[in-house]
Amino acid sequence: MKYTIMQFRKDYPNDATCLDKLFQLRYGKLECCPKCAVVNPTFKRVSNRRSYQCRDCYYQLYPTAGTVFEKTTTPLTYWFYAMYLMTVTRNGVSAKELERVLGVTYKTSWRMAKMIRELMGRNKKTQLFGIVEADECYVGGSPGKNLGRTVPDRQPVFAMVERLGNVIAQKVDNSQKTTLLPIIQENIDKAATIMTDEFKSYVNLRDLGYIHKTIMHQLKRYVDGEISTNTVESFFSQLKRMISGTHIWVSKKHIQLYIDECVFRYNNRNVPEKMFEIMLNGVS
Ligand SMILES: [Zn+2]
Repeated sequence: MKYTIMQFRKDYPNDATCLDKLFQLRYGKLECCPKCAVVNPTFKRVSNRRSYQCRDCYYQLYPTAGTVFEKTTTPLTYWFYAMYLMTVTRNGVSAKELERVLGVTYKTSWRMAKMIRELMGRNKKTQLFGIVEADECYVGGSPGKNLGRTVPDRQPVFAMVERLGNVIAQKVDNSQKTTLLPIIQENIDKAATIMTDEFKSYVNLRDLGYIHKTIMHQLKRYVDGEISTNTVESFFSQLKRMISGTHIWVSKKHIQLYIDECVFRYNNRNVPEKMFEIMLNGVS
């Protein structure tokens, strides 16, 4: 199932329908008017403003207030379309591409892309269960070079992935034990089985109470019975493909937003038709 462009255009043909959607998301379940307290209030859209007015007391609600859309003069249809593109493309959309597609300035499209990634980041998971694979990778630096664990201009990223489940990933200062183990303890259920390679930062996982299984990559072994880190590595390939394919290069400062984008798409991969709606839910 997919949320098709035809359906999208039907759902959001103009700014009014986008605003209605935001109103529904934020105030759709309002039981009484916050001002006059009338029960089951009727709010009507005020023309030429981004607000809705109570039929009984004229109190106005602004569905974009306090959201990413609050200070923007960019039409909501542009925002919605940019969000839509972010959910239907496998590797995301660059600010450059949004600039071209929407006909806005690069400054605007860059800001939109950043805000949309922030929305995606609000859908994070907080605990992983069952069999969880953990690994680090390095992104950024010179394109095309894979120089291993100690190159200073590359950004280390740490990820934990449930088999057939969700991923949690974040940028880290380094891949030392003192950095990685607290992140594992915070995000992986105590009863989980953790699979990693033989990297030294992971050797104390048993002392923390986890079942820990190690795949010996140095012995050129990548699958040993049920032991492997192929799932987390496939997440990293997606992240790298997104960064090098869509963006060419991203700064260390903003790398977490790109990780969040990749995580969002990964965690919602089985419900592509709902991705847009899930992203919108982050607005309120
Ligand atoms: Zn009222």
